[in-house]
Amino acid sequence: MCVCVCGLSIFEPEFAKGISASVLRCLQARYMADTFYTNAGCTLVALNPFKPVPQLYSPELMREYHAAPQPQKLKPHVFTVGEQTYRNVKSLIEPVNQSIVVSGESGAGKTWTSRCLMKFYAVVAASPTSWESHKIAERIEQRILNSNPVMEAFGNACTLRNNNSSRFGKFIQLQLNRAQQLVGATVQTYLLEKTRVVCQAFSERNFHIFYQICKGASEDERLQWHLPEGAAFSWLPNPERSLEGSVRTAASLLGLQEDVLLKTVQIRTIRAGRQQQVFQKPCPRAECDTRRDCLAKLIYARLFDWLVSVINSSICADTNSWTTFIGLLDVYGFESFPNNSLEQLCINYANEKLQQHFVAHYLRAQQEEYAAEDLEWSFISYQDNQPCLDLIEGSPISICSLINEECRLNRPSSAAQLQTRIETALAGSPCLGHNKLSREPSFIVVHYAGPVRYHTGGLVEKNKDPIPPELTGLLQQSQDPLLLGLFPTNPKEKTQEEPSGQSRAPVLTVVSKFKASLEQLLQVLHSTTPHYIRCIKPNSQGQAQTFVQEEVLSQLEACGLVETIHISAAGFPIRVSHQNFVERYKLLRRLRPRTSSGPHGPYPAKGLPEWCPHAKEATLEPLLHDILHTLPVLTQTKATPG
Ligand code: ADP
Ligand code: MG
Repeated sequence: MCVCVCGLSIFEPEFAKGISASVLRCLQARYMADTFYTNAGCTLVALNPFKPVPQLYSPELMREYHAAPQPQKLKPHVFTVGEQTYRNVKSLIEPVNQSIVVSGESGAGKTWTSRCLMKFYAVVAASPTSWESHKIAERIEQRILNSNPVMEAFGNACTLRNNNSSRFGKFIQLQLNRAQQLVGATVQTYLLEKTRVVCQAFSERNFHIFYQICKGASEDERLQWHLPEGAAFSWLPNPERSLEGSVRTAASLLGLQEDVLLKTVQIRTIRAGRQQQVFQKPCPRAECDTRRDCLAKLIYARLFDWLVSVINSSICADTNSWTTFIGLLDVYGFESFPNNSLEQLCINYANEKLQQHFVAHYLRAQQEEYAAEDLEWSFISYQDNQPCLDLIEGSPISICSLINEECRLNRPSSAAQLQTRIETALAGSPCLGHNKLSREPSFIVVHYAGPVRYHTGGLVEKNKDPIPPELTGLLQQSQDPLLLGLFPTNPKEKTQEEPSGQSRAPVLTVVSKFKASLEQLLQVLHSTTPHYIRCIKPNSQGQAQTFVQEEVLSQLEACGLVETIHISAAGFPIRVSHQNFVERYKLLRRLRPRTSSGPHGPYPAKGLPEWCPHAKEATLEPLLHDILHTLPVLTQTKATPG
């Protein structure tokens, strides 16, 4: 039985244009009136104010959203999503883990939003009655929040798009106990951009921590760390003068012998033949530079992982002390630069996966559900990005598999050859763009958010991310206790270049490791009820009160927001399973009708009475009887426009 059915006609392009224009106008008017949050179907659109708005994030306001009988009736806010999520965990018969996917371009406000949600839960998930648990929640909150600046110091950097750009993805699980109190958290990080340690794009900077150390070191620390005042380093742009006679310094800081460090960087060890004889070969200058860079990246990446594990060990609750979690996902947004390489391929691949999760969960599932329920519904088309994912990760042949294959075969192969291989093997894909204007070897992927040209030069090498075993071995000899902890001597540990007897072990490439961690993340997301926050950057200059329509429109299009709004406006916002509906309203059965006439009392046989203030005067039992026995899986109410 349908309480109400409404449906719009097919999603005409002209109609879509109309919707886009009204959405833009609406967002612009709200932005100029300092209203930064707007509901758009199941998603919350968050416009970056680019100015401080402290009153919008006060603990008082958090409590107001938390205490509201219907928070969704208050102004749209990130706290509405936070509260809804929090209530979902406890209100269902079976507690269900929740997740909030925060997406958007670099600088759109994802990290800000995640931090804001963490603060919200720390306030609302603390128990007001029990001082002890309040203290725990506060302590955990403080620890979780205090871990942010540390992680950001090591993982964030100033880029052209954001002065505090996160150069890693982050999934935080906020752990709640049975009483819904915040008792802990864990952080999972993804793909730290470690190449930034040794090389940055023009006008960008290295990770914040290096500048913070240079600026904040005391005189004693300067002496200890060999940091002359005002020193410039070629890895920390822009260098005014270079030090680099620094092997001695590096060796002393790394707890190594100078000659051993120099030799390891300059001489390659090769094992060959049946007996695995060891040969040593001096490296040309360029290779020495690569090996030096590799050493730095290796140390930095391990240090970052160590940092995350230390943070986790200090904030994670015991397995038995929490029952549900709310996951916050803050990943790098879609990227397209003049020169895109493996980093962008991975980042955009992750965004494709998340977009597919959104499409599957919302755009497709909802419409399929209407069809299954035999509701009158005109199917609204949406951009399904499965073909693009097939191109990137599909089986048996895809971009990932071809790049991995090159790594596995370990054969000399030029960038042009890789381009040809990709373009020939995947020619049938609708998402492989026409590559006519290419001067450098490259290929184009038509992503849901737009086409991106990836340069094939260096792609295979980056994917191998080779770590010469001598470098790991060198660091295992360090006298520095922290470095020794980062590079334990473990006979089982094998780097990918180490030989493994006659049979070759599968090569663990960057892409294959990233794919595995992405699949794991998606599995977790699938096991939760997801909520989406789309952060939008109103202008690329980071200026307050400036709304550039074209820039906003391209972001709205990139995340399928117009389709979302269309489906929401035409669809049914409330869906309750039959069982939950019965559980929730069975109390009404106890109410006795005041009057009753005929098998269905005064309730007219031809249809349901209007829901109105006089409803209690109507006979509830037959109404309930009808509802319980004729409702299919869904209970629907008409969507309220806007
Ligand atoms: P992203 O993580 O998407 O790259 P950030 O969260 O780092 O972007 O936001 C970039 C900058 O925008 C922040 O450093 C902050 O100055 C500003 N910003 C973002 N959201 C807000 C907000 N809600 N209120 C005020 N400033 C904000
Ligand atoms: Mg960020």
